[in-house]
Amino acid sequence: MKFNKVLEGIQTYEAGKPIELVVREFGIAPENVVKLASNENPIGTSPKVAEVIRANADKAHLYPDDSMFELKAALSGKFDVGDENIIIGAGSDQVLEFISRALLDEKSSVLMSAVTFAMYEIYAKQMGAKIVRTASWEHRYDEFMEAYHMHKPKIIYICTPNNPTGDATSREEVLEIIEEVGNDTLIVVDGAYMEYASAKDDKYAITPKELLGYENVIYLGTFSKAYGLGGMRVGYGIAQPELIKALYKMRPPFNISTLSLAAAIEAAKDEAFVAKSIALHQEQIKRYEDFAKEHGFEYIDSYTNFITYLFGDTLDSTEVSDALLRRGVIIRNLASYGMNGVRITIGTAAQNDVLFKHFSEVIS
Ligand SMILES: *Cc1c(COP(=O)(O)O)cnc(C)c1O
Repeated sequence: MKFNKVLEGIQTYEAGKPIELVVREFGIAPENVVKLASNENPIGTSPKVAEVIRANADKAHLYPDDSMFELKAALSGKFDVGDENIIIGAGSDQVLEFISRALLDEKSSVLMSAVTFAMYEIYAKQMGAKIVRTASWEHRYDEFMEAYHMHKPKIIYICTPNNPTGDATSREEVLEIIEEVGNDTLIVVDGAYMEYASAKDDKYAITPKELLGYENVIYLGTFSKAYGLGGMRVGYGIAQPELIKALYKMRPPFNISTLSLAAAIEAAKDEAFVAKSIALHQEQIKRYEDFAKEHGFEYIDSYTNFITYLFGDTLDSTEVSDALLRRGVIIRNLASYGMNGVRITIGTAAQNDVLFKHFSEVIS
């Protein structure tokens, strides 16, 4: 079989390892596996949302409301934008895919930082587009502008806070980039972890509303992280109506499920759950910073629900991740991103206890 030639350049996305794999391969009981690899919400799903999912179980035979009226109403209320500014995706991943398909072809290029969310590259390559990366993993204004003027990319991705590094770009710097870029280039501001950044430092808080003044900017958000709904697959894009209309042409019907839609509507209203998630996170992440200091390796100051440890020449990230995996602790090795480091989702106090215990043993 001859496949589309763009496939040759694509490396299949490597998702965080599932609990089931550790159970199968290492014979560890599922209740003893600690998964801190996919930035899921460690306190789980809001009980109110779980209740709504159960209450909707007997509606699985019905297609969802394809207009997603109620979910858009909840989001437009939350962000003070119009429903014509919103598109819903099966995860913000699907909105990224719509964006790529609506804008890119084999003559285009896309610009992103040296180390950022892997799907930007994959979706762009599916369209045959060329990838341009800045030298630094931080989003640096000068590097972005130099590459922008040289390559005139069709899309610029600004992931703030950034995955898998955890650092954030200030609102001021993001706006500087936006101001300098012409309307032929779309700027995607991916705010998958924005709830954590906004809670930590106002300087990094960016709202979809303040970006709506630009016709060439889209803000992406997700229910997968702070809202605790990774398994339901719901995300959104917020932009001017012309762009939203274009993305709608790429959307399959009923792109999120009846249960996902019901869950997201409830989750959008449950701010108390998000606040609780963030409070737990802020308390626990300090332990990770202390752990790094104690063991003499670097970490990147995090604006997300995970922390990135950089080992320099102290440890080998592949050895550490593999040894932890054999003990039933799943973290994310960053070797495939060209970094000798690991990304660890901040867990509950009990999960973090297990992580620190095994981590100390593994490296001693
Ligand atoms: C998790 C994540 C997303 C989206 O996840 P979905 O589950 O598809 O909504 C988007 N961007 C970044 C940077 C992420 O880490």
